[in-house]
Amino acid sequence: MRIVLLGAPGSGKGTQAKLLIEKYKIPQISTGDLLRAAVAAGTELGKKAKAAMDSGQLVADDVVLGMIQERLATPDSKGGFILDGFPRNIPQAQTLDAMLARVGQPLQLALLVDVDIEVLMKRLTGRRTCGSCGAIYNVYYTPTKVPGKCDKCGGSLQHRSDDNETTVRNRLKVYEEQTAPLVSYYKAQGKLRTARGVGSISDIFKSISDIIEAQMRPLAAAGVAVSAAASAGQARAASARGAAPAAAKKALKKAAKKVAKKAAPKKAAKKVAKKAAPKKAAKKVAKKAAPKKAAKKVAKKAAKAKK
Ligand SMILES: [Zn+2]
Repeated sequence: MRIVLLGAPGSGKGTQAKLLIEKYKIPQISTGDLLRAAVAAGTELGKKAKAAMDSGQLVADDVVLGMIQERLATPDSKGGFILDGFPRNIPQAQTLDAMLARVGQPLQLALLVDVDIEVLMKRLTGRRTCGSCGAIYNVYYTPTKVPGKCDKCGGSLQHRSDDNETTVRNRLKVYEEQTAPLVSYYKAQGKLRTARGVGSISDIFKSISDIIEAQMRPLAAAGVAVSAAASAGQARAASARGAAPAAAKKALKKAAKKVAKKAAPKKAAKKVAKKAAPKKAAKKVAKKAAPKKAAKKVAKKAAKAKK
């Protein structure tokens, strides 16, 4: 399953991604991790990325895409992947689609973990961390028994400065502005599914798994249909389109048509008609009757004889 994960900061999509990796045995492709690894390894793309970062610029999309493409070439991503943190805007989504089409691994699902903005606000601004043991609390959802004191070690709780209301609201606003167009983009492709990101981690994971399995079922069925289509010589078109849900549906339709054709064999009828009116055969006869080549042969033989 090839998935793009969409969700706001605080939506819990990182936690869900980890669970998905375990359950479906597919890797998470995080552009942040790829960048760090490529820079550390000193690859061509890593050098380009480092040059950009050293001069305080954003790493160009084509460098990031190149890294994703290299990552997709490794064996563990053949069964699918979860892309997190990329794309962030429409141009990135378009170049990603083009690249994935080139390598024959088109996206199958854009999964949005949806959480109301006021819940996100509470999750992010309510976060408190114990300065001594690192335990994490939330003043709204998981408060300590004594305000400001860690339940585990009695250490004092800290509030990160970038978790204040103004900063968080801005971050969420930026996210909204960037992601809303992406949601429409994938919706238009018929690939968007939304899971409510509220409730327990396991409840959310259950609804995400249900979505994924609902997507996988028709794909598996299409696998059969595609192989049927292949026998009819339509395999090339099908594999070029990949196993996207839309393609899968088409393949199913084609397979159904095939069965219908067998019941009412138009092609067979055409064949018979051709045999009855044998144009090609007639041509052959015509050629034999006007034997240009034979004449040439004779001419050649005559020339040889002269020698
Ligand atoms: Zn503590």
